[in-house]
Amino acid sequence: MKKTIKTNHGEIKTPAFMPDATYGSIKTVSFNDVKKAGIKEIVTTTLHIEQKVGSIYIKKFGGIHKFFKWDRPILTDSGGWQVFSLINSPKSNGKNKLTNAGCTFVDPSTGKTSLLTPENSIQIQLNLGSDILTVLDIPIDPTISLEERKKATTLNSLWAQRAKKYFDQNKLPGQLLGAVIQGGDDFELRKQSAKDLAELDFDLYNFGGIPLYSEVSWKYDYPQGLYREMLHFVKSLIPDDKISYAMGVGMPDDIAYCVDIGWDLFDTVLPTRNARHGFLFVSEGQGDATRSYKSPFDDSKLSKKSFSYDILHLRNKRYEFDENPVDVNCTCECCKSVSRAYLRYLIRIKEPAGFRLATIHNLTFYANWVNKLMISISN
Ligand SMILES: [Zn+2]
Repeated sequence: MKKTIKTNHGEIKTPAFMPDATYGSIKTVSFNDVKKAGIKEIVTTTLHIEQKVGSIYIKKFGGIHKFFKWDRPILTDSGGWQVFSLINSPKSNGKNKLTNAGCTFVDPSTGKTSLLTPENSIQIQLNLGSDILTVLDIPIDPTISLEERKKATTLNSLWAQRAKKYFDQNKLPGQLLGAVIQGGDDFELRKQSAKDLAELDFDLYNFGGIPLYSEVSWKYDYPQGLYREMLHFVKSLIPDDKISYAMGVGMPDDIAYCVDIGWDLFDTVLPTRNARHGFLFVSEGQGDATRSYKSPFDDSKLSKKSFSYDILHLRNKRYEFDENPVDVNCTCECCKSVSRAYLRYLIRIKEPAGFRLATIHNLTFYANWVNKLMISISN
């Protein structure tokens, strides 16, 4: 179902894809490049910005929109995933830990110990002037005991309650708040998490835990199995009038699946990170390997056709003398100005100009892909 999300910096028409401006920038490209690629909204990472420059500094400029000179919607994450990664890092040595109060962690670059709480995570995002904020969440490691997973899911709900209270007391008019449905790969825990959070009445409900799944998924082909099953199940738990955000999804065919079952928002580092490695998303027949999505649902608007695309591995020798554009069907700056051979050369010697052009192409592909899905569910 298409939705329009009203924010203080314009409307988001769903389904919508938001690239990750992790440190307040999408690597190698300018926000002008991002806009020209057809991207209308972005995600940025609260904790990385807080650690690198501080939200108080950015507040002095009037918030991230003015600091970045990006006048469109910005969604901020909570820092939960970054802290979870630090806690579970082999280098943690027990110094990074979860307590009922919040997450205590040592910043690897400065050695400084910090406490991230549900309240100060919201305060950082308020300092940044985010349009859509996210409550501090607890991703669940599926390898811990059931008792520990239950405890973490309950704490996730209690933190959401504290974050919501703080947000309601301090928000600006028009700011929106999302909570993260956790519970790992346990259906009952996901159900409990969704129920607890629905009682608190958030604007958005997010699917948490994909980065965790994807690490396993490469080995066990999770996306086609439990991963998609869990996305389907969690979507069914979210009230229809609320915005649903499949955090970290993903490959274009995974996005198509999520649009098919009704998810509204997506973010992933795949188009930008892969671009810098010479992995390009192109039209079917233009690359090395085809992937596609065909709806398994008879009553789906997407069931009328198959959505296919190719992945082009530009580092392959077969492109050494290829004077064609990356994708003959694409009109982006990269495809209009350079050949595959030249772009391959630039990427092989790690030339930033090559990373930039490849990133522009992949962002354009993602914007067009989601747009095509949006049109298909509208008809
Ligand atoms: Zn292109």
